[in-house]
Amino acid sequence: MWNLFHLKSIEVILVSVEEYVGIVIGTGSAMSIVDPLLGENDGKVAVIDKDEPGGICLTRGCIPSKNLLYPADLVREIEKAQKFGITAPVNKIDFNQVMERMRSHIDPEIRSIERGLSGSEALDYYREPAEFVEPYTLKVGGQRIRSDLILLCTGSKPLIPPIEGIEEVDYLTSRSVLELETRPSSLIIVGGGYIGVEYAHFFSSMGTDVTVVEMKPRILPRAEPEISRLAEEKMKRYMDVSTGRRAVEIRGGPSGEKELVTVEDGGKDKDIFSAEEIMIASGRAPNTDLLNPKAGGIETDEDGWIKVDERLETSQEGVWALGDALGRHMFKHAANYEARVVYRNAILNRETEVDYHAVPRAIFGHPKVASVGMGEAEAVERYGKEEIAIGSQKYENTAKGEAMGVEDYFVKIIVKRDSGKILGAHIVGPQAPILIQEIVNLMYTEDGNFDPIREGMHIHPALSEVVERAFFNLTSVDHYHHHLNRN
Ligand SMILES: Cc1cc2nc3c(=O)[nH]c(=O)nc-3n(C[C@H](O)[C@H](O)[C@H](O)COP(=O)(O)OP(=O)(O)OC[C@H]3O[C@@H](n4cnc5c(N)ncnc54)[C@H](O)[C@@H]3O)c2cc1C
Repeated sequence: MWNLFHLKSIEVILVSVEEYVGIVIGTGSAMSIVDPLLGENDGKVAVIDKDEPGGICLTRGCIPSKNLLYPADLVREIEKAQKFGITAPVNKIDFNQVMERMRSHIDPEIRSIERGLSGSEALDYYREPAEFVEPYTLKVGGQRIRSDLILLCTGSKPLIPPIEGIEEVDYLTSRSVLELETRPSSLIIVGGGYIGVEYAHFFSSMGTDVTVVEMKPRILPRAEPEISRLAEEKMKRYMDVSTGRRAVEIRGGPSGEKELVTVEDGGKDKDIFSAEEIMIASGRAPNTDLLNPKAGGIETDEDGWIKVDERLETSQEGVWALGDALGRHMFKHAANYEARVVYRNAILNRETEVDYHAVPRAIFGHPKVASVGMGEAEAVERYGKEEIAIGSQKYENTAKGEAMGVEDYFVKIIVKRDSGKILGAHIVGPQAPILIQEIVNLMYTEDGNFDPIREGMHIHPALSEVVERAFFNLTSVDHYHHHLNRN
């Protein structure tokens, strides 16, 4: 196919446009749609990614970070052994070995995906940035390509806040941190969200002096307030945590270290932190600055996240978006779920609407935090205080929790008082991301009721009893807070 393109006002040139049955931008979660797309159509698919293939989860997100966090968990477990009469000091940590092990798991997978993409005759793989030039047509490398079916799975990148001097000083992000070969002796992490908290756990376990600086009044600002408070208290055993402080300047210090100037949020009171390295983990930003979605007739919100309808179709018919690019639930499992919705709608021509009522979230720090559904404030706002009940249970008040010597950690669940429908659940403590799954699954049953938890036998003595017991301890919102304040 040939298209006319205007150069300046008078020159006109002929440019070849390669036509595809589908174009996929981003080799993360949309990859599961590529095979069915090829199966349903005669013709080639274009798969585009400007970075190494596999998406952020594999290349610099979930997988590398969890490969690093497991040894960090081991360090804390070994240290805890002392409490049980076992002396097992951590004598030496080979930081580079920990990093190499992580890289040795990631690199072969990336290479294998790369081989699969490059060796397939059914698709063309472009390792270039793609940019819309007009609806349904993109420029990629020197090539123009076109399709009536386009999947935008463009992900997100670290948000770099406007801090004075940031351009002049080297800093780490969740991407560059994976290249480290030597452990920084001290590290300031700007941002107390889940990425900041997970890396704070990693580096502090490895022996780095860590300071977390969070602008909001509490770390993990999206968690329940009592969970944030407890997590902060526990983290402070291993690092400094400073909340309610905004980073305003980064600069080199007198002896080669880096300095972070902060001010009290809403005030002028300055505090300066210094460390060998600074890591910015202050949120995620969209990649749409590269994509030029406007030229493709694709609407974004004011921050650049791609707008979609309930079926995940963008403002341009036949162009679908999913995953982090939507700026909604930036988790791999959410992106995978959205890929299934797009597959049904775009390939099978169904009318499936997305349902986000039970998106689980997990933070693999120390302590671990997991949640699903509504927080208490949202449930109260939606239904009123009288209509909901809260259940809670401390780990230490179950046989297994006590055996493990767990202190202070707990499960909190929020249910509809009349129907027993589960509205949300929040867990802080060991195995929280596993324990929450039982509740997530029940939230997908027809009535989302908690009866199966109360009826089903829970293995004794296993940690799952802490979840079961929370549902036996239902009380009013006021009573829950009265009890919380007393403890
Ligand atoms: C440090 C860290 C830890 C994380 N840990 C977890 C976790 O434990 N659990 C969890 O569920 N989630 C985790 N996440 C989030 C998870 O990685 C993302 O939600 C998920 O990878 C999003 O997948 P995606 O398919 O939407 O996009 P991505 O995997 O981000 O893929 C998008 C790809 O598109 C490419 N691209 C973008 N624009 C263009 C363009 N114009 N042209 C060409 N290519 C383009 C990008 O380079 C990228 O490779 C973590 C993220 C980070 C950063």
